[in-house]
Amino acid sequence: MVLNTTIIMSNNSSVIQIPVYRPFMSGREKEYVCQCLDTKWISSKGEFVGRFERGFSEYIKVKHSSTVSNGTVALHIALAALGIGAGDEVIVPTFTYIASVNAIAYVGATPIFVDAEQEFWNIDPDKIIEKITPKTKAVMIVHIYGAPCEVDKIADICKKHNLLLIEDVAEAFGSKYKGQFAGSFGDIATFSFFGNKTITTGEGGMVVSNQKSLIDRVSFLKSQAVSASKEYWHDEIGYNYRMTNICAAIGVAQLEQADDIILKKRYIADLYKSELAGTSITFQKDAPYIVNTFWMISILAQNQEIRDRIRLKLRDNGIETRPFFYPAHMMPAFRQNDTYPVAESLSERGINLPSYPDLDTEQIKYICSIIKTF
Ligand SMILES: *Cc1c(COP(=O)(O)O)cnc(C)c1O
Repeated sequence: MVLNTTIIMSNNSSVIQIPVYRPFMSGREKEYVCQCLDTKWISSKGEFVGRFERGFSEYIKVKHSSTVSNGTVALHIALAALGIGAGDEVIVPTFTYIASVNAIAYVGATPIFVDAEQEFWNIDPDKIIEKITPKTKAVMIVHIYGAPCEVDKIADICKKHNLLLIEDVAEAFGSKYKGQFAGSFGDIATFSFFGNKTITTGEGGMVVSNQKSLIDRVSFLKSQAVSASKEYWHDEIGYNYRMTNICAAIGVAQLEQADDIILKKRYIADLYKSELAGTSITFQKDAPYIVNTFWMISILAQNQEIRDRIRLKLRDNGIETRPFFYPAHMMPAFRQNDTYPVAESLSERGINLPSYPDLDTEQIKYICSIIKTF
């Protein structure tokens, strides 16, 4: 990812003019950060932390939010707060960013993989049931590339089998399923505010829930499990996973622009789709009752060879792209013999195109004109 610069040298020393991402910061970020510096509230205490948490809860319409230092620890502490640990199994899509799976390992639980659904690329609800055992404690869903999962079906399965539902919403801030925000369905949900996420704090994350006891538990664990009544007394093993006031200040400014950022991303996606209509390129399918916020504009080529050729040609024309994630079951730490053909095929054929909010119409047309030569 390229931050804060439009020109970098790529591997073959051709000049990258259009990066995959850069943050959109046209609001009061600088003003709020300067307030932190001027008042010297630069650590994890200060007014912006609470403001960001309250503003975030209001925005996605959940009752409680707790800031953390990134999206990976958000997942770790969410699992810890739910009491998931050694001997437990957590069902997770294999087609996800590795952080979802690592977090399950951090608490000593075992990730149980489920393949992606062919057209929507999210966890296949019909394949979840096959993976439930007496050890299954939770299902972690990941709203991949901004498109919400089939939440109703999955919530029904969880209810029926008495499983906890965790949402990894790192890629889907602001996305909706049947009119309701992603992150407001699960027992607990997590967000990432890394530099390329839809709203960013540089590094940062959030844990949200409608259950106060869970968010209280997150807040306790993220502050070294320090006793509320006895100084320097730690009731159990805790963590330092707090967000700084400086990051929260950026977050408050980002939230003020969230609607605008999402509008821009949806416009960009529409334009890519219309420019590439009638080609052999395919997009993630959107169910009619979802609002996708298009974290990354993601396309599939017919096969890996064409995918690689498209990426090379784009690179030679100054356009940075990313391949899709490798499925987690292929990673050395989680390798297993089962195959997950949909996730593997997506991974071989996928490209993330430049997706940042202030990408302009001419740039998108230029990118698509190159893709169309294939
Ligand atoms: C980005 C991301 C994370 C992790 O976020 P960080 O803030 O980078 O730790 C977790 N899950 C998914 C699906 C992500 O895309």
